[in-house]
Amino acid sequence: MYLKSLTLRGFKSFASATTLNFEPGITCVVGPNGSGKSNVVDALSWVMGEQGAKSLRGGKMEDVIFAGTAGRAPLGRAEVVLTIDNTDGALPIEYAEVTISRTMFRNGGSEYAINGSSARLLDVQDLLSDSGIGREMHVIVGQGQLDSILQATPEGRRGFIEEAAGVLKHRKRKEKALRKLEATEGNLNRLSDLITEIR
Ligand code: ATP
Repeated sequence: MYLKSLTLRGFKSFASATTLNFEPGITCVVGPNGSGKSNVVDALSWVMGEQGAKSLRGGKMEDVIFAGTAGRAPLGRAEVVLTIDNTDGALPIEYAEVTISRTMFRNGGSEYAINGSSARLLDVQDLLSDSGIGREMHVIVGQGQLDSILQATPEGRRGFIEEAAGVLKHRKRKEKALRKLEATEGNLNRLSDLITEIR
């Protein structure tokens, strides 16, 4: 499995559609300060489901949408498409090539698609969670992030290990199931109160 290409359209400084093609192995992105190198990495995190505006170096989520320049009006939407080569079947999906896309409008949330079919954030997270490029994006080490990993609390360190081991997905599901169970218990209690009242 390797990243084949990344297309940015209206994402941060990339107003026009821009496609970066990658080969297997190491890719270096070079350019002057402020030319958009980190924006490419942000796009990668974002399309894989990043939810924190701060992790994307912004104040709010809409900050990923091209905000305009002196010569160009702001845009109303940001779109990123990531194509992954899956010929080795590392991703649990029956396609040799997988595209994940995320689109965001100024007035709304995000829309995701996997190979062109509309998908939920959870589907994207599930698809990637055992591949080593999961939801907490620990594979993307940003500037200054090494420090925070070295200084992480024991809980934080445990999170990194759980993510790497693919445990996090199951823990999230367990938490969700427990919340449902709690809500059901509440309903059962209300029901039994009603039955007592009727009697
Ligand atoms: P450095 O080498 O200094 O780390 P870089 O090449 O990584 O720089 P980035 O941080 O990726 O540069 O890009 C910063 C540029 O992106 C700035 O010029 C900033 O104005 C622009 N930018 C960020 N968000 C938006 C946005 N929503 N709309 C338009 N431009 C944006």
